[in-house]
Formats: sequence, structure tokens, C-alpha cells
Amino acid sequence: MLGLMQNQPLLISGLIEHAERHHGDGEIVSRRVEGDIHRYQWRDVARRARQVANALDGMQLLFSDRVATLAWNGYRHLELYFGVSGSGRVLHTINPRLHPDQIAWIANHAEDRVLCFDMSFLPLVQAVHAKCPTIKQYVALCDGDKLPRDTGIPNLVAYEEWIAGQPASYHWPSFDENSASSMCYTSGTTGHPKAALYSHRSTTLHAYAAALPDVMGLSARDAVLPVVPMFHVNAWGIPYSAALTGCKLVFPGGAMDGKSIYELIEAEQVTYAAGVPTVWQMLLGHMKPGGLRFSSLQRTVIGGSACPPAMIDAFREEYGVEVLHAWGMTEMSPLGTLCTLKNKHRTMAPEEQMKIRMKQGRAIYGVDMKIVGDKGEELPWDGKTFGDLYVKGPWVVREYFKGEGGDPLVKDAHGVGWFPTGDVATIDADGYMQITDRSKDVIKSGGEWISSIDIENIAMAHPAIQMAACVGMRHPKWDERPIVAVVKKPGAQVTREELLKFYEGKIAKWQVPDDVVFVESIPLGATGKMLKTRLREQLKDYKLPSA
Ligand code: ADP
Repeated sequence: MLGLMQNQPLLISGLIEHAERHHGDGEIVSRRVEGDIHRYQWRDVARRARQVANALDGMQLLFSDRVATLAWNGYRHLELYFGVSGSGRVLHTINPRLHPDQIAWIANHAEDRVLCFDMSFLPLVQAVHAKCPTIKQYVALCDGDKLPRDTGIPNLVAYEEWIAGQPASYHWPSFDENSASSMCYTSGTTGHPKAALYSHRSTTLHAYAAALPDVMGLSARDAVLPVVPMFHVNAWGIPYSAALTGCKLVFPGGAMDGKSIYELIEAEQVTYAAGVPTVWQMLLGHMKPGGLRFSSLQRTVIGGSACPPAMIDAFREEYGVEVLHAWGMTEMSPLGTLCTLKNKHRTMAPEEQMKIRMKQGRAIYGVDMKIVGDKGEELPWDGKTFGDLYVKGPWVVREYFKGEGGDPLVKDAHGVGWFPTGDVATIDADGYMQITDRSKDVIKSGGEWISSIDIENIAMAHPAIQMAACVGMRHPKWDERPIVAVVKKPGAQVTREELLKFYEGKIAKWQVPDDVVFVESIPLGATGKMLKTRLREQLKDYKLPSA
């Protein structure tokens, strides 16, 4: 017998309808690429999202047709999130930091029909449009009078003119909640990028889960600043969770430097911010010299790459801001684990608590995980044994768009498919997972594994170091030995010997890097992660002192 409860599909249109009806006057504040601050309310987002839906209907765009964006975090991008997906089309957020050829490749692979872009990306669109035959309409996210005349881009219209004549009423269609809602290509460090294709169901469940107190813990009392871009895994789902909770949203536009972010946090009394470690590095770097303080910020979620414990400490001890360390990936919508303490940890000594806080955290309900060994055998949760991290759940990919790369899942003895994350991790008895490495970054020295993240975290705790990347170098005896490439803070001094000494007592002797290489900068990828492949290329003539 079936239950007798109402069967309503979980649709993204339901989120914006809820925000409009129950949080209509909740504020959305955006720093525009034009430079000024724009503010309006959830009810305006809803109204204009309906106009977007009408505009798409008017173009005879079909169900599941792709509408792409090249845009920063801002209110017009938010309207597209709801208008495009809500009307049954698929929102394809493209990372503008990718190479133009990659952008064209992605747009063609996705068969995008419309491309909406911020004016700061006009030159980029001018460079790629001729290579994107599937795109029939270009929309510049600006007022009509801001659109230059001779751009050379065919079928180009200003967003404000595109939606201006459209009715503000629209009946959001109802359809299967498993229909595609949005897509995001992984950065594809090897080969062509592959796309995760999210559904209305996966997105809505992820939005519910993200709002839980032990996950992002968003509420109607928060003012939330997603610094994590809306072109990177839907800004970790924050736009959807924000509509569900009715929190105030604050968008930084393209200004992600420490000064701009600090000013926005203070001016809008932001209580909650989210971003990758490199962004917070810039923010703290801006605040420290001037002795600046936060007057409203309470929590920040940091993920995308390992958050150095020194950063968790700085936020907590110096600024009274709680750091939530998060782990996930494009293929996971992206949230997998968040690190919050349990009741039994409350009375622990601060140093012991810190050992937990620096881990990537516990699985969110909805995601299950396990670590496996070389033969696929499940490994113990003892906090020491490490293995390949596998995940499953309703917001984890089953297959990539167009079946690229074949079946990515690995079946267990019961025939249940698990997604191999490509990360190597430990899990402790309380279920806290800790990433030791990307499997391709693991350093194998004399048959033992060395965690590059551990080595980077120690360097980052040194007061003179701004950024650190550890890579393995070929060694005739040990196969590989770690070295650490570091960027010094402006004006700071430290020698190779001082830094190597700093490792003493913090890790086993054989894990201490063989050398320190001082570099001007460490190459970063399109999502702010360190590009170790490129770093290795830069160091190709490097010789280990011990080799
Ligand atoms: P891409 O896979 O396209 O590079 P993702 O954002 O999907 O971009 O990257 C996911 C990967 O980022 C994870 O598999 C993991 O290696 C790394 N990562 C994410 N969050 C963390 C974290 N908190 N600590 C360590 N690594 C992380």
C-alpha cells in the first residue's frame, strides 16, 4: 500500500515561490560589475525570474534546452537560476576563467542555445562566438543604454530590454522532478571536461540538506555572502538554500579582493560567508596590517581545497569567527562533508577540538562514504588507515552528461554503485573524514605514503609563509621525495633551513620535505585551486639535493 500524502514533485520553481510568499521583503544586495550597489527583494527576484521564463518561452526554447551563463555572483544571475530551471530549461554555468577554446568546446558539447554574460566578459564572448554555432541568442546582463553598438556579436540583446516587455505573471510548469535543471563542467585536469547534470530533485534535496544546522546552518536571520562563484557548482547550492530559508543574500560581483570583500561584509552586516581558502587568505591579508575587525561575521564555510589549520585558528582566535571546513566536488552538487563538533566534544581541550576541526568532516545525511583499498576492500574507520574515498547519494552523479567517460560507478557486493572521488582519505571512529591527498598528488616515498596536505598545512602555519604547495620529486632510492614550494608574505623573511627546522617534531622525520623552493607565486586553476601539474612543469629542471 502506498502512503496517502500529497505527491508534489521537488522543483526549483517551488523554492522561488516559497521565497516570494514567505520572505518577499528579504533583501538581495549586489555589487554590480558597473561598480555600484544594487538592492532589491526576494519578491523582485521572483517577478523577474518569471519574466525570464516568458522571454525563453517567446524564443520557442524547448524543454531541457541549455541556457548558458558567463557571469559573476549578482542578482541577474540569480534570476536566471530560477527563471531558466523553473521553466524547464537547463542552466549551464560556465567558468569564465577557463581558456576561451575550452569555453567554446564546453558550449558546443552542451549545445547551448542562449548565452547570458556580464559586460566584463564581452571581449571573451567576442573571441568565442564564431566558434559556437549552437548559440542562437546572446544576452548581455546590462541596461539597454550600456550595450555598445558594434560588438560584432550576432543576435545580441541587453538583458533589461530582453525581459522588459515580458509579463510578470507565469505559471511554473510541473514535470518529473528527475528532469535536468542545471549543469556544471568539472575543470578536467586530464582530457576534456565532463559535465555533472543536476536534477530538480537532486538540487532541492541538496538545498534542504545544506541548510541543516550541522551543514551550512543557514537561516532567515542570516545575511549570507557567497564568495564562491555561481559558476562553480551553483555557488555550493547557496542560491537555492537561500530561497528555502529566506536569508538575506549579498553578492560580491567581480570584486573578490580582500578590501572589497571586507567592505561588503561590514556595510551589509554579513553574518555568514562562503569561499575557497585563497579568497580568505586575501581577506585576512587585507585586515591584519590595518588591525581591522569584523562587526557582524559569525561563521564562514571554507572548502574546495584543504583549509590550513592556521586559517581556522586565525578566524577563531583573532576574529571570533567560526570556520566550518567543508569538502565536496562538482560531481556531488557539491556538498559531501562538513566539520562540526559533536556533543561529546564540547568539553575537550581546545587543542584536541582543533584536531577535529581541521578534518573535512562528517557525511551529511543523504551522502554515504567509505574508503577502500587496492582490491576494492572496505578499510577500517580508525582515523589512520587511508584509502580511496567512494561516495553515493541522491545528489551524487550516476553518469556524466552524454555518457562521457563511460560508467563512472564502482559496484559493491550488493550491486550498489559508488562514485570514486579520486581523493585519498582516512575516516575515524566518529565518522570524521580527512583528505590526505588527491590520489594523483599522493607522494610515495620508500613504499610509504606522505600527505602533501600535511606538509602544506605546516608551512602555512609559519608566520612568514603566504602559500605552500608540496609535490613529489623523483628520487633514485626512495622513488619520490616531497619538496615544498612556498610564497613568502610581503616583506617577510625566512630561510630554507629555518623552514625545514619548523617541521621538526610536527611530523615524522622521514616525512619532512627534502627541500624548500621559494617562488613568486603558485599557479592556480580556474576554481582557485593550486595547479600542481603546472607547478611540476615549472620545476622540471629542479634537482633534489639528496638525489
Ligand atoms: P574539479 O574536480 O573540477 O577540480 P571540484 O570543485 O569538483 O573541482 O573539486 C573537487 C575536489 O577538490 C575534491 O575531490 C578534493 O580533491 C578537493 N577538495 C574539495 N574540498 C576540499 C577540502 N575541504 N579539503 C581538501 N580537498 C578538497
